[in-house]
Amino acid sequence: MAPRGAERILSGAARPVLALLLAGIIFVTDEKVGFHAAVSVLYPLVLVLGAGRSGRRGIHAWTALCLALPVISFISVHMPRPGAEAALRLTFALAVTGLTGALLNGRLRLREARDARASSEETLRQFAELIPQILFRTDAGGRLTYLNPWFTRLTGRSAGEALARQHWHEALHPEDRDRYLRLHTEAGLSPQRIHVRARDSAGQYRWLLLHRRPRLDPVTGALAGWYGSGIDVDAEVRAAAEIRDLNARLERLAAQREEALRRSEHRFRALFDDLNIAFAEHDLSAAKPLVDAARDAGAGSLAAHDAAHPGYIARCLAGIRLVSANRAMLQMLGYGEETGLLSPAWPAPRGGRGAQMPLIQLEALFDGRCHVSGSTTLPGRDGRALPVAFGLNLIPESCTALSTFIDISEQEAAHAAMLAAQSSLARAGRAATMGALSTSLAHELNQPVQALTTEIDTIRRWLQRDPPEMARALRTLDRLAGNGARIAAIMRRTRAQLVTGEAPAMPLDLRALLRETSALLEGDLSHRSARLQVECTLDDPQVIADRIGLQQVFVNVLLNAAEAIAARPGGGHGLIRVLVREAPDDMACIRIRDDGPGIAPQHLEKLFEPFFTTRAQGMGMGLHICRGIIERFGGTISAGNHVGGGAEIRFTLPRPRARACAEHAA
Ligand code: ADP
Repeated sequence: MAPRGAERILSGAARPVLALLLAGIIFVTDEKVGFHAAVSVLYPLVLVLGAGRSGRRGIHAWTALCLALPVISFISVHMPRPGAEAALRLTFALAVTGLTGALLNGRLRLREARDARASSEETLRQFAELIPQILFRTDAGGRLTYLNPWFTRLTGRSAGEALARQHWHEALHPEDRDRYLRLHTEAGLSPQRIHVRARDSAGQYRWLLLHRRPRLDPVTGALAGWYGSGIDVDAEVRAAAEIRDLNARLERLAAQREEALRRSEHRFRALFDDLNIAFAEHDLSAAKPLVDAARDAGAGSLAAHDAAHPGYIARCLAGIRLVSANRAMLQMLGYGEETGLLSPAWPAPRGGRGAQMPLIQLEALFDGRCHVSGSTTLPGRDGRALPVAFGLNLIPESCTALSTFIDISEQEAAHAAMLAAQSSLARAGRAATMGALSTSLAHELNQPVQALTTEIDTIRRWLQRDPPEMARALRTLDRLAGNGARIAAIMRRTRAQLVTGEAPAMPLDLRALLRETSALLEGDLSHRSARLQVECTLDDPQVIADRIGLQQVFVNVLLNAAEAIAARPGGGHGLIRVLVREAPDDMACIRIRDDGPGIAPQHLEKLFEPFFTTRAQGMGMGLHICRGIIERFGGTISAGNHVGGGAEIRFTLPRPRARACAEHAA
């Protein structure tokens, strides 16, 4: 507002100047002119003019000035003989000036109070407008007398219209409206709090939390009205509802899960109790810190740690607790239905073998192994060691050891019986072997003994000639000596087989052995018009076998071939080819082919069976013995006919490198 008339003139810096001027005029008039009148009563004008718009300090200063000036005039004019009238005038003037100063002070305080109130009202207004919730006020009858702008912002309705028409509760959800109105009538004078849904500016219902507190008349204590607020708690209410739904779903799921668990527990318990397999559950949690400590200390094993810290394992064992054992377990250990087993956890069995179960559990824990199986003994009630096969499952998180046991006493007894039976079988077998060996011996010795007889006759003939044919006789004598040595070797080997059951195997040079064998069989082969031809493609034709055994194989197969050649209907010379080749897996393959009539297909399968022969003089043991020898050294033997028509006996034998590797691998 613009300052008006005289106020405008007297505004600003002009007022103090004018006041000072006026004060000067009054002072001079009072001093010099010497009216016998109360000129000094005009000082309040100076005071009003000077301090009218100033603050508290200005009023004080102007008051002090207006009080001082009449006193000075009075002293200078009337002293030292002041008259009573002058003193009265002074007193009057001072009283009027002081009163004016007091009035000005009072006016200032009033103005300050008004300003403070206006400022606080403004703050309150701003607060009410800016606070993000509805604020309202009603009179004692519940009529709305105030609504802050947030009402409009939230509901989209005009606050003024709501006040005029008193219909704001129409924005409430129909289900909540009655509840809200009932609260008005029923709740009395206590503070009220209610959740209601109100339509928002977008037409959607939102949850509001309404608070209402009574406003009482400070003097009479009667109800003067209500103050209240409405807070938008839609997000919270919906979140709470969702959480409630979720909780309900969770509870349902938990109930279902619990039921499923209960059923499975029931099934498990039934299985656990009724199974024939013994079952025990142990809690290792008290032992675990000790086991961990040993591992952390870098111990290589529990036993090593125990050696360094006597009594360590005993302490660990004391930390194992038997949680439960099923009926089969109790019965197996001889406790019947008693649960006495549950208290002494794993007493050591007398005369048990292998590590005891608690130690096995501790070691599994130490090594971090979750599954262990094997056999051990458990202590029976009578202290007897019960042999069992066990499976241990360790659950490291819960330090739980679940162990299953099967009583293997019967199997152990059966095993012992089997060992006894095997022993008597071995004795019977050895007797049978001796029988077979004597047959084989007769077969093997047959040829060299016959050769001996023939060669002795031959030598006699060479010596009886005139002159005696010494060179030929000596050559035959050499062959005779060779056959004699072979007979001795066969006897030695047979004896070795009888004593040890095995003949020594060693690397043998096939070429050398074949040379030797062909020299031995020279007479037999030439007698049957058979010629031997060896073809070896191996650089190092060595095989692992027993010398006499392999020679026996060659003698058998070569003589069979020579027999076959001799039996050819047309007669004539025949060829026996020995082919030595490399075979897979570091084996050597030896094929012995002849150009005899071959083997009848129906005989092929029976060839290696003992006593199978098609020859009048045959024993049917030769190929059977050959197979035994070849297989003993890890080879295979088979028979067939080659494309040329004759028979072909094939066998394989390991070469030294393969054997070395096999030994290394083993
Ligand atoms: P034996 O020579 O005493 O008959 P073998 O076990 O050595 O016993 O041989 C069994 C049978 O296999 C022989 O009777 C013969 O029928 C057959 N056989 C073996 N080698 C040949 C071959 N090279 N040619 C034809 N038949 C053979």
